[in-house]
Amino acid sequence: MARYIDSVCRLCRREGLKLFLKGERCLSDKCSFERRSYPPGHHGQRMRRPTEYGLQLREKQKVKRIYGVLESQFRNYYRRAARQKGITGDNLLSFLERRLDNVVYRLGFAHSRKQARQLVRHNHLLVNGRKVNIPSFLVKQGDEVAVKEKSRRLEAFTTALERVEARGVPAWLEIDKNQARGVVLSLPTREDIDQEIREQLIVELYSK
Ligand code: SF4
Repeated sequence: MARYIDSVCRLCRREGLKLFLKGERCLSDKCSFERRSYPPGHHGQRMRRPTEYGLQLREKQKVKRIYGVLESQFRNYYRRAARQKGITGDNLLSFLERRLDNVVYRLGFAHSRKQARQLVRHNHLLVNGRKVNIPSFLVKQGDEVAVKEKSRRLEAFTTALERVEARGVPAWLEIDKNQARGVVLSLPTREDIDQEIREQLIVELYSK
């Protein structure tokens, strides 16, 4: 499966905003975007007026990169979102938020979605008491996501959990920090997603 292996900080510079792909480093003064906020490459500092298509494409790329999903997966989420009742853009973001790797990150069990994905794949998480090692698993209302007891002492979890108050947990999730466990109180809505995303541009792109 194709995976991006270059520096992820280049992605933030390409999209023109911080995507928070590197955990703690993103909050420190080592963040590359803080030092060089222009696009990477030879012509990065040249000002260009984007076309309508260019804006739509960049927005789609940005959201894919935030959630760490591939084009084919992203398109599948879009198709499912378009088939569902309601606003397609809102449905799309809700699907992405409900991914298990995102939930693990949002609950503060990992510093980044990438790390959360790795922890899920390495069997450190339980959903409703059962082992789930599929990062794209979609949680439902009432689901309980917990760190396996044996895994709770892993440095990755303990250091991430120490910062959970500072990062905050979205209203659709509830965390029990002492038990390293969280509950999905409701499905995420557009208001629960605080990142700067113009999902309408993605809908326009795929509707062509
Ligand atoms: Fe982006 Fe984080 Fe790298 Fe900063 S440190 S450029 S926010 S991935």
